[in-house]
Formats: sequence, C-alpha cells, structure tokens
Amino acid sequence: MHHSQATYSIKDQRTCMWLTRYRTLTHQLQVMFILMLASNMAMFLGTKEANASVIPNYFTAANVNNATTAKTTSTNQILGYTRDWRLITRNEWGARPPKIITNFTIPASFVILHHSDRPGICRTMDACKVSMRSMQNFHMNSHSWTDIGYSFAVGGDGNVYEGRGYGVVGAHAPNYNSRSIGLLLIGNFMEEPPPAPMQQVAQNFIKYSMERGYLRDDYTLYGHRQVRSTKCPGDALFEVIKEWPHWQELN
Ligand SMILES: [Zn+2]
Repeated sequence: MHHSQATYSIKDQRTCMWLTRYRTLTHQLQVMFILMLASNMAMFLGTKEANASVIPNYFTAANVNNATTAKTTSTNQILGYTRDWRLITRNEWGARPPKIITNFTIPASFVILHHSDRPGICRTMDACKVSMRSMQNFHMNSHSWTDIGYSFAVGGDGNVYEGRGYGVVGAHAPNYNSRSIGLLLIGNFMEEPPPAPMQQVAQNFIKYSMERGYLRDDYTLYGHRQVRSTKCPGDALFEVIKEWPHWQELN
C-alpha cells in the first residue's frame, strides 16, 4: 500500500512536470508566432515602401534579440541568433541533396568572395531561390560537381542562402576549398558594385561566422581573382572589398 502510494505520487509529479513543460512550450510557441507575424508585417510594409534597390531589413536586431531561444542543432542551422539577415536553408530554396559531403575542420582561415556573373542580381526571396536552384543545377549537371559550388550566397533581397554550409569542402576556388568560406554575392558586379545594404549583409554574415567560431578571427578575405585567373568577383565589387575588414593583397 505504502509502496503503491509512493509510485502514484511520483507519477503525479511527472504528469505535473510534463503539464508545466507543455504549458511553457505552448506559451513560447505563441510568443514566437506573434514575433513571426510582426516581422512578416514589417517585411511587407518595408517591401511596399522601399524602391527596388532597397533591401527590406525585416529582421531587426531588436526583434531577433527577443527570440534568441532557438539552439543550433547542426553547423548548417544557424537560425535564432542576432542578425539583420535571415538564413534561407537548403530546404527552403528547394536544393537537391548533395551527392557527397566532405567535411573540413572549422574554423576556416579564409573567405573567398565571388559574384555569379549570371544569374544577375535577385531582389526578392522567390527570385533568389530560383537563382540558387539554377546555379546548383548548372554546377551538378554541367560540371558534374557534387553540389552547388559555394558555401553561402547573399541575395539582393538581403538574405543569406545556404550552399554547402560551414565546414564542408566547396568547389569555388582551387587550393582554398577545404579551408575557406566561399561566399557568393548573387549578380554581375563588373560595372556596378552590389547595393550598399547587400554589401552590409555580406559583411555582417562574415562577422557572424567569426563570432560563432566558424571562421578564425584572424581570417583573410580574398576576391576570387586573387587566387585564380578569373574576372570574378567583378571589377566593381573587387574595388569595394579592398576596403572591407581583413582584405589583403596576395603576395
Ligand atoms: Zn568566383
């Protein structure tokens, strides 16, 4: 009798504990939902008011700060941390699975910057998703690569698109593929540099990668043309990145 009472009591405690957890979770979900609604509305208003060259900055530091409870579950999932851009995951842009994944040990030592030449700049999330899929198809079908070549890509919509991700050997710059983040800015930047907000997102993403330990804090930034004979990342963008933190001449 005494024994079974004790058992019930533990069961009750457990039920109570789970109920509390359930209620807390429900509350957290409600808060997250409201935050998502608010940010979507901000995005909508921002898009409506802004002209095409202005990137909607819908994840402000303030509202992301209030929703930083998400934990990373893999190196490729970086949602939930303070930033003014959003990571669009492979799932979200409809990536094909990679044929092979080869890892390297983080942190990376280099950031190699690219432009896409073609496709040109994309200014909405839908357009940037199409660009990501077309580049991946081109790399996998025409080059027979295992995946899209780049680690990440910045869109003219102000978001960062997941390519191979952190710590995965890329196909964007020989000799640097297994020790760099290959960062693409989608567009042709021979004549004109990317819009200032797009440049800012690229720089913020690099800084974020460093702060999160994916990139050494003494990393070196190169334009693709510094490590290989190519016009990439375009004359105009190359001039601009010479002013960015950690850019160096290659001797
Ligand atoms: Zn390149």
